[in-house]
Amino acid sequence: MRTTEVMDYHFINSDIHSFVQDLNDRLANRIKTFIITANPEIIMYAGQDSQYREIIHEADYIAPDGAGVVIASRILGTPLMERITGFDLMQELLKSAEEKSYSVYFLGAEPEIIKQAVSKIQKDFPRLNIAGYHHGYIHDDKPIVNEIRQKQPDIVFVGLGFPKQEQWIHQHLKDFNHGLFMGVGGSYDVIAG
Ligand code: UDP
Repeated sequence: MRTTEVMDYHFINSDIHSFVQDLNDRLANRIKTFIITANPEIIMYAGQDSQYREIIHEADYIAPDGAGVVIASRILGTPLMERITGFDLMQELLKSAEEKSYSVYFLGAEPEIIKQAVSKIQKDFPRLNIAGYHHGYIHDDKPIVNEIRQKQPDIVFVGLGFPKQEQWIHQHLKDFNHGLFMGVGGSYDVIAG
């Protein structure tokens, strides 16, 4: 996958469909994958938090989420092809997961919100294999990590807001044998409506 360095980060420089194709190849080969969709807020925050910056550098992919990142890339003379938002990427991954029968786990948001969001997703993608879901107000990670380990979903969407979601994925990635992990911010709130 082609990447271009902008402001010290190697961003995906591709259209969303080629990116999803690449992710599908990784899913087919059960390669563990950590994606960060980095918007300007995330980049700004990382400038002040070196641990978070390290987490971003350790991700397998950094997608340019936010027009600001794409505009900055042009000004800096290292243009990125297009903006890839976390929300769009999630929708494209759900679409291909339904087609290819990849199972999906949803983590994050308030209890009532995640329930509504999953029910909406099930309606939008009727053949989607939903491995499970859990709200994001977690006091003890262990039961959730165990549930995900047991269910072995192919894709895990983590909506705890940044920086929490990336910290959570980074902390627990070693606990899982496979899976594509991605932070989705407030997407469940948007889906639930
Ligand atoms: N959230 C969560 N657990 C937390 C904090 C936040 O599940 O401990 C959820 C929150 O309910 C919302 C999402 O994370 O669905 C995004 O939260 P926020 O608006 O704070 O972050 P942003 O959208 O700015 O990344």
